[in-house]
Amino acid sequence: MAYTYDDQNIFAKILRGEIPNDTVMETDHTLAFRDIAPQAPEHVLVIPKGAYVSYDHFASEASDAEIADYTRTIGAICKQLGVDLGGDGMGYRLISNAGTAGVQDVPHLHVHILSGRPLGPMLMRA
Ligand code: 5GP
Repeated sequence: MAYTYDDQNIFAKILRGEIPNDTVMETDHTLAFRDIAPQAPEHVLVIPKGAYVSYDHFASEASDAEIADYTRTIGAICKQLGVDLGGDGMGYRLISNAGTAGVQDVPHLHVHILSGRPLGPMLMRA
């Protein structure tokens, strides 16, 4: 089955400049901005500029340049936030929700970077 991408999703609108965002970092292929409803003292969303709905979509169809840029940008943001382990930071959690099981609200690939406090157990029981 082919991937389908809804270009009316809120992150597509952010990428088109139709909705403002609090940008943390921008590169050729990637945009990172603060979550509008932060779940931790540091809560940054990292999205590819390309039209990918999920991590598996991105991994199968993005170019090597997009994938390298996305991965390195996530690392660079962790450094910029001062939470990276290489810099003796307190660490962080990366989350990427996909589809129904992942309870994905916005159907454009995003990784949440969460930090600033101990985040507790990885999953709550539903
Ligand atoms: P998901 O549940 O899809 O993994 O996460 C979507 C995230 O997008 C949520 O954490 C939500 O707070 C955030 N979000 C939704 N709308 C906006 C928006 O307009 N601006 C920003 N910065 N974040 C948003």
